[in-house]
Amino acid sequence: MKITIEHKIPTRVLTPASGYLTEYSHTLNPYVGCTFACSYCYVRRMPVALFRGSPWGSWVDVKQNAADHLRTELKRANQKGPVTIFLSSSTDPYQPVEYREKITRSFLEVLAENPPAFLFVQTRSPLVVRDIDLFCQLKNRIRISLTIETDRDDVRRAFAPLSPSIPARLSALKRLTAAGVPTQAAVSPLLPCTPAFPKTLSAVTSRVCIDDFFRGDGSGGKRTEQLGIRQIFHQNGWDEWYDKEAYTRLIADFQRDFKGQIYLSQTGFLPESV
Ligand code: SF4
Repeated sequence: MKITIEHKIPTRVLTPASGYLTEYSHTLNPYVGCTFACSYCYVRRMPVALFRGSPWGSWVDVKQNAADHLRTELKRANQKGPVTIFLSSSTDPYQPVEYREKITRSFLEVLAENPPAFLFVQTRSPLVVRDIDLFCQLKNRIRISLTIETDRDDVRRAFAPLSPSIPARLSALKRLTAAGVPTQAAVSPLLPCTPAFPKTLSAVTSRVCIDDFFRGDGSGGKRTEQLGIRQIFHQNGWDEWYDKEAYTRLIADFQRDFKGQIYLSQTGFLPESV
């Protein structure tokens, strides 16, 4: 797929949080668009993607001079109360363009100088380990949540062929945890996996969040239906996994391996008080 990358000057970068993320004061997105192009991405059903005129995954807008905006906006936001930030709500902050553009890193440099009350970083990219030095400066005011939806790379390829491999994500999460950064594995959305999945995750982090298409797509599963995700399950013979109760098959094993550090859906993405 040909990728179009454009540089645009944003009017602002800190956006008041709402909906699923309403417990945060702000969301922060370094880019618009995402070239991981996951089939189930709920942003595909949002106006930013629907009215773009090019397929989701084929374009990225880079927010130019975004760190300068953040520095100014952060000062203003801090005067109004505790700032809690979700990075990012509608893009992956460590998608491939970040290797070159480093907008996410520039945000983290500003946040390390002016620590917010809490920062939640959500990604599925192993590039996240590049910024361990900055995460460590934020100590316990941060959590890095790495999406690992399955332990089967064939399943990952069926739903999100352009996303990073499962072994690469496991290894990144292991490095973050070993460096003392607060982490979690986000099994979000839960995809067909092996019985060994809970144990595999518990070897690389002590906290897990399980979410699915029915609780976590912001519309009770309607957006996921509109995206045709049911067909991918069906074509691969995985129909029994496209079910509200699929997570219950694994819950006892997750509870055993994570000793209570297990969260369901939105509760795993909430800001933490420090
Ligand atoms: S990584 Fe996240 S934002 Fe990017 S396509 Fe996948 S679900 Fe969407």
